[in-house]
Amino acid sequence: MKIKILGSGNEIGKSAILVEDKKRIVMDYGVRIQPEPPTYPIREKFDAGIVSHAHLDHIGATPLLAQREKIPVFMNDVTLELGTMLLKDSMKVARKEGFGVPFSEKDVKRLVKNTKIVRYKEQFKIGEFSCSLWDAGHIPGSSSILLDNGKKVLYTGDIQTRQSKLLNGCKLPEKVDTLIIESTYGTRTQENRRLEEKKLVDIVEETISNNGVALVPVLAVGRSQEVLLILKEYADKIALDGMSKLASEIIADYGSYLRSPKEFRELLQKVKFLHSERDRKEAVKKYPIILSSAGMLGGGPAVRYLGEIKSCEHCSVIFTSYLAEDSPGKMLTETKIFDNEEERYKVKSSIHHLELSAHADKSGLFDIIRRTKPEQVICVHGEECKDFAKSIEDEFKIQAFVPKNNEVIRV
Ligand SMILES: [Zn+2]
Repeated sequence: MKIKILGSGNEIGKSAILVEDKKRIVMDYGVRIQPEPPTYPIREKFDAGIVSHAHLDHIGATPLLAQREKIPVFMNDVTLELGTMLLKDSMKVARKEGFGVPFSEKDVKRLVKNTKIVRYKEQFKIGEFSCSLWDAGHIPGSSSILLDNGKKVLYTGDIQTRQSKLLNGCKLPEKVDTLIIESTYGTRTQENRRLEEKKLVDIVEETISNNGVALVPVLAVGRSQEVLLILKEYADKIALDGMSKLASEIIADYGSYLRSPKEFRELLQKVKFLHSERDRKEAVKKYPIILSSAGMLGGGPAVRYLGEIKSCEHCSVIFTSYLAEDSPGKMLTETKIFDNEEERYKVKSSIHHLELSAHADKSGLFDIIRRTKPEQVICVHGEECKDFAKSIEDEFKIQAFVPKNNEVIRV
């Protein structure tokens, strides 16, 4: 069997991994958004595709799989629905920014038509491979992908071992031969989750008691819903804007992926969805907590609300996810200056950066290796894959590969 890395080799972005025996299966086909302009994985001919989850760095280039040939693309229902939403939005954003998009709306429609919906642990065949998706605990619907043709290959996708408010931790097969593992936090230990959640509540509580506004720029899929659950006690004080609204509605519709669908649906009833211009104009006066995409302040309504509270010393801006080096969010946390090339100003509100990651950290990733007992590991989707691979070899005495894009490994 051949495994070829078409994207995400030593980088975070454009995940795409080809597994080839008699059939050629591509697992994920994503886009790398930062740095601009967006870049896409290596193009090849495939017999089938499988998608792990609805984040653009995993699903963002899948319409290309529907462009020339009609190949089946397997994923679960919520991933298709969230993914379609993200694909349409990414095309809008790319056009607005003046970047070309290598596919059209028609290709997205064709992709939807070619998609085969599968459930967790349901076996499906692609040639000689028996395939299945396993709950990866990262976002609703996120999956690790198991391919078995006598030899078992498990691709983790983005994965989280620990349960969150929104999701259970990942489920894993007992024994695999080759493990293709994400490495986002391969060299790091995360802060204590409960303490980070408490910090978020404390900052919001203090901001409200000082009559300020807490602005939480969030990723639409996954993080928005997790933050809503952490701030559950404040539900009637929260206003939601940007793509987080539609993402939350879709996720509520597919409750079976959640730890507590009833709790999430009830919570959503109490939250104010900002739709009209009038709603938005009054938002910072009426609601002490505003959750809105984009998570790194690269765009979306969150930028507007930041402009409205920038001179308010009692207000706070709270980031809860990874901030890319050259993002406006990262610069704001370091300098208190907002600069998105269209406008630049000083922000007087307090700025916070909490870690509520949906990725396993080093000990979680080691736990995955311990549980799946692979003969060899391939490290992808990380900026420090080399150091992570070295630590795996030291700990488990097995070979750990660090392939570059376009590199082939025979297993
Ligand atoms: Zn992801």
